[in-house]
Amino acid sequence: MSSIKTHEYEKPGILPDVEDAGKEEKNRIEPSTLYLVATPIGNLADLSARALKVLSGVDFIAAEDTRNSTKLLSCFDIHRPLVSYFEHNKRQRGEEIVGRLERGECCALITDAGTPAISDPGEDLVRLCAERGIRVISVPGCCAAITALTLSGLPTGRFVFEGFLSTQKSERRCRLEALKTEERTIIFYEAPHKLRATLADFLAYFGKDRPIALCRELTKRNEEAMRTTLGCAVEYYDTHDPRGEYVLIVGGCPTGTVQALAEWSEMTPAQHVEAYLEEHPEAKKLDAIKAVAKLRGVSRNEIYRAVLDAEDELE
Ligand code: SAM
Repeated sequence: MSSIKTHEYEKPGILPDVEDAGKEEKNRIEPSTLYLVATPIGNLADLSARALKVLSGVDFIAAEDTRNSTKLLSCFDIHRPLVSYFEHNKRQRGEEIVGRLERGECCALITDAGTPAISDPGEDLVRLCAERGIRVISVPGCCAAITALTLSGLPTGRFVFEGFLSTQKSERRCRLEALKTEERTIIFYEAPHKLRATLADFLAYFGKDRPIALCRELTKRNEEAMRTTLGCAVEYYDTHDPRGEYVLIVGGCPTGTVQALAEWSEMTPAQHVEAYLEEHPEAKKLDAIKAVAKLRGVSRNEIYRAVLDAEDELE
């Protein structure tokens, strides 16, 4: 396990000049346009110069939580009209926003933190604009998923983003079952009060040896990236309270396991032990039980009991 600490929560200093000639044309704020503006995920200094310019220049700002956003915007002395746009008003408010855009206004969409449309209702507003032929421009910046992935120490070449797991049991089980054999690095978002339950589910589906990086408080004073295994993470959070928002980066299923799983999927655990012993004549039965348990991601006891049951049936 290791942890890192980085920067203080601070206000930005002098910003680069974005008003110079060549850039001005490109950065001009256009009418009838929705701007997706990424905001900091914890460190105010991460708001880009371009984001500042757009937020200061649009006709109005649509925000997930207007109280949070008022605080953020007043730190930068930005005072544009705000409308709320969140999960429970997104249908009606989305239509209203699109109506205003069609009449020539321009709008910046911001969320509580990070990049709009990633695990928030911004996705629906972009779809609506696309359907109505309204231009959407992304002003990129922080995204918790990518920030955590880069810190994780796990492979970044191929990854999948899963966002929040469903809280509905059957949907959650289905998703985790499908991800069991995912070879790419997997990114999840999680709230502190659900962390323990999620780690317990990960343990059941991915096994105790799967690497995981638990990244929390990203870009804040207490930023931490705990790089460990699922077994150790579960043990750690048995005795420590989860604090702050989390991004969980889970290592993919080791290469080759998927093919092997396909081969074994037709076998019972006892047949699998037999097959292992045929392939490894030097191995003892206990070694085979251990190996099969590891390969199938279940406990040795489970395999041991299955072997005993199969032997009982034969007698
Ligand atoms: N749109 C955002 C983005 O670009 O990352 C994500 C919005 S989603 C509603 C909120 C989740 O992002 C949190 O529950 C947490 O999993 C993650 N998150 C946001 N800020 C974070 C931070 N500073 N540290 C760790 N995770 C964070």
